Amino acid sequence: MDLTCFSCRRPLEDAHVSRGGQNYHPHHFKCRECPLPFNPQDAIFWHDNLLYCRFHYSTRFAPKCAGCTTAVFSQHIAFGGEDECWHFECYLLNVLWSIKLAPPGRQIKSAIPLVSMP
Ligand SMILES: [Zn+2]
Ligand SMILES: [Zn+2]
Ligand SMILES: [Zn+2]
Repeated sequence: MDLTCFSCRRPLEDAHVSRGGQNYHPHHFKCRECPLPFNPQDAIFWHDNLLYCRFHYSTRFAPKCAGCTTAVFSQHIAFGGEDECWHFECYLLNVLWSIKLAPPGRQIKSAIPLVSMP
């Protein structure tokens, strides 16, 4: 089998890390912004085929909740409309009581981040 590292595209030796259908050199299995490799149990996020930790993904790419404007991860997403994403709790608050924690006029993206399953 011809395995290549998803990060650097070079051949993999015996020791490599597999997550989300991709393989990596152990030292390339890391967030683009963090100096240290991931731990096996860390949540991993992709953007444009690059790896990020939860913190850096949320600060750069994660869509913002239309209710409270903090980052939304896929396991919390509910859709209020075409262009909105929500924390499940914020969405319920809004639907049940029409409560919004943030002022209107925000720009929301509805992209769903890809979250790897261990
Ligand atoms: Zn590599
Ligand atoms: Zn990071
Ligand atoms: Zn929210």
